[in-house]
Amino acid sequence: MNGQVDVLDTALIRQILESVDAGYDAQLEFLHELIKYPSQRGQEATAQDFMATALRSRGYDVDRWQIQLEDIQHLPGFSPAHVSYENAWNVVGAHRPRQAKGRSLILNGHIDIVPTGPLDMWSQPPYEPTIEQGWMYGRGAGDMKAGLSANLFAVDALARIGYRPAADVYQQSVIEEECTGNGALACLQRGYGADAAIITEPYNDMLGIAQVGVIWLQVEVRGHPAHAAFASQGFNAIEASYPLIAALHDLEARWNADKHPAYEQIEHPIHFVVSRIEGGDWTSSVPSWCLGLLTIMEESYIHI
Ligand SMILES: [Zn+2]
Repeated sequence: MNGQVDVLDTALIRQILESVDAGYDAQLEFLHELIKYPSQRGQEATAQDFMATALRSRGYDVDRWQIQLEDIQHLPGFSPAHVSYENAWNVVGAHRPRQAKGRSLILNGHIDIVPTGPLDMWSQPPYEPTIEQGWMYGRGAGDMKAGLSANLFAVDALARIGYRPAADVYQQSVIEEECTGNGALACLQRGYGADAAIITEPYNDMLGIAQVGVIWLQVEVRGHPAHAAFASQGFNAIEASYPLIAALHDLEARWNADKHPAYEQIEHPIHFVVSRIEGGDWTSSVPSWCLGLLTIMEESYIHI
């Protein structure tokens, strides 16, 4: 490469960045609309319709399909599903140049969001996004509808200055990221693979190249029921879970002490979180059961 090409590249880069800025208000408006869809797991269909319409209006070849477990459950990377797939819709918008050259690309984002938690802890309704001091607030704004919007408007920015990707680009809007990753897997199974993939999940303003992922555990403790007046004859399943939780935290400490070299710089890379617990049937009975759910997640992506 000679210096002249570098100068041209720099000019082109500036032109692209200016075009991204020129589309930013429209991008914000799009994100604002997208957040209004309460696309918690199992309820993503209308948000996916919105994505499909946006892709179609830009000339993408849109595929909106229902994920079938039998198509993916034999594949590496599949995770057992604990929820119904009756309303599990993926959307892909394909940009296919007539004569593709160069390398193909996936732009991926997930449309599913986690529950809101108690509404009285929100200063604004979670699905009515607001911008305060340069930050947009709303459930799913950061994780990761902003990323889905960025994927879409990145290619728009090229179009605005007269460019189009020379190779295939697949805009993937997937479900099931917050639990299994089966939505992205279903895209690959359906043939939407590429030479590279960019997932615009926000994380500390950096590019990550790998992540350990997440393990979900469920522990059920069985006790012995008794009337509260005769509690000494029973066995309390809720209280029996305390030493189990302590033992799991001992395991967490051991895993962090013996960490993978990739996490050398991170003091405490792995977190065990007791995230849900339920048990017992009646306030005046010794509980005969306790069910605890635990998530194990590492703190950092491996980044460049
Ligand atoms: Zn996410």
